[in-house]
Amino acid sequence: MAEEDIKSAEDSEIGDNVEIRDTDIVFECPNCGKELVIDYRGAGLQITCSGCGTPVLVPIPDGMELVDLDLDCGEILKQLFATRRNYQKAELQIQSLKVRLAQLQEALEVMQKVVSEGLE
Ligand SMILES: [Zn+2]
Repeated sequence: MAEEDIKSAEDSEIGDNVEIRDTDIVFECPNCGKELVIDYRGAGLQITCSGCGTPVLVPIPDGMELVDLDLDCGEILKQLFATRRNYQKAELQIQSLKVRLAQLQEALEVMQKVVSEGLE
């Protein structure tokens, strides 16, 4: 299991005063009994209990398969679209920077000419 997954699962831990969403998994730490809330994507991952620091396994909700979590197509598509939009934006930026670079190079050549002429 990737270390990043575990980290994001830990980050998902929230306190008592935070709103619990329908998609969250709520369970008790088997060691200290503290109520832990984690995003459903943390199902099956090991997290560290914020109460006692013991590593606990996040239960997988009834009717949910680990495969479902790995193949969340909607989420993957959303990320893909966002990536593509960012890519297009970056491409446009590169284009305008290239134009600016050409302008600056032209200006530099003119200035170098002026300087070398002035030194003669
Ligand atoms: Zn605990």
